Amino acid sequence: MSDDVQDEGFDEWLDAAADGEAYYLECPESHGSLPPRRVCPDCGATDLAETPLPDAGTIETVTVTHVPTPAFEEDAPYATAIARFGGVRLTGQVVGVDPDAVETGLEVELAVTVSETTGERVLGLEPVDR
Ligand SMILES: [Zn+2]
Repeated sequence: MSDDVQDEGFDEWLDAAADGEAYYLECPESHGSLPPRRVCPDCGATDLAETPLPDAGTIETVTVTHVPTPAFEEDAPYATAIARFGGVRLTGQVVGVDPDAVETGLEVELAVTVSETTGERVLGLEPVDR
């Protein structure tokens, strides 16, 4: 099942991220993608190199959810953002800050967190302390 394979690859990636060893895959043209890809989604190159993810990313878009689907009931309200880290964009729940205070341009770092509703690990984005 291809879905299972993808989950497995992402799970390993979350392990690495939780250990502070997050990385992305970069092709010879500097396009970024995330595991478990084996082919560059932009140009089809198969020569992908593991590249350390930058420590901080920048939020590009953010959506605040006040009325969630039942699966995320306990987590609401929450902000979901897309942040750019070097060559890749990552989608995650913004943690450690009032959801309404999240705005584009905010600097964030990865924080692997556990959903209060499902108990599953999810990718979190935590504002960088300054
Ligand atoms: Zn490429």
